[in-house]
Amino acid sequence: MDYISIENLQVFAYHGVYEEENINGQNFYVSAKLFLSTGFAGKTDDINASVNYADVCHKITEYMTTHTYNLIEAVAENLAYMIFSNFESVKEIELTISKPEAPIGLPFDNVSVTIHRKWTTAFVAYGSNMGDSLNLIQTAIDSIRNNKYIRLIKESSIIKTKAYGYENQDDFYNGCVEIETLLSPEELLEELNMIENAAGRKREIHWGPRTLDLDIILFGNEIINSEKLIIPHYDMHNRMFVLEPLCEIAPYAYNPRLCKTAKMLKTDLERTV
Ligand code: ATP
Ligand code: CA
Ligand code: CA
Repeated sequence: MDYISIENLQVFAYHGVYEEENINGQNFYVSAKLFLSTGFAGKTDDINASVNYADVCHKITEYMTTHTYNLIEAVAENLAYMIFSNFESVKEIELTISKPEAPIGLPFDNVSVTIHRKWTTAFVAYGSNMGDSLNLIQTAIDSIRNNKYIRLIKESSIIKTKAYGYENQDDFYNGCVEIETLLSPEELLEELNMIENAAGRKREIHWGPRTLDLDIILFGNEIINSEKLIIPHYDMHNRMFVLEPLCEIAPYAYNPRLCKTAKMLKTDLERTV
């Protein structure tokens, strides 16, 4: 992707763990790569089709001088979020905050932190067959929508399905949502676990009745095989209650492990049943 870069914007501000830093202040230097598509702006020569880097520099300066953080990690995290919020054409950011006057008491050139953030498209499937399912699902979707690091893009219809795996239980309500998130997959899983817990989720019988289950189905093009997280979801291709809602909102969504779209997986599964 194209990018616009800003190098070493100097900002005098008061971030730091030590009181002297909060009182006396020091110079910080901000470098940013703002990833966006510049093709249209290039062809039309129209600033409105790109991002105005002077505006970005002024916003960074304003933000850094009106907020105070202990850590340059926090400065970077919040600045990235501020830039995304104010400049919608920016899809991805690499941000470096340098602090060459940090009170270390030893000779050094510079200390800095660099972060890389982007809005990743992900799909989350939900299921519920205990309690006031429709209400629990709605509350969960609201919690997702209200997380500042998540944008809710699309919601499928909610379908009623027969239980899968362990059949001696009530029918399920299932569906899925498309989101964009600044969270990492692990952070998203943690957020979803908190929402499940708030819905009173208990893990008693494997595949048994549950108030709310939230599974990450796809996360960008990532393939993850860790103890806590398997992405794409390891069994999505065998589950019509996942593929049907997924195909309703994103038939083109791509499973990079199986190298097939949601639509192709659904067609395959229809052939086997
Ligand atoms: P299934 O995973 O077969 O749908 P389940 O949803 O009932 O079964 P849970 O008890 O909800 O299983 O989850 C067990 C663990 O699965 C979670 O603690 C989580 O760490 C892990 N896990 C691995 N991959 C994912 C994923 N893609 N989405 C959600 N949880 C996952
Ligand atoms: Ca599940
Ligand atoms: Ca689960």
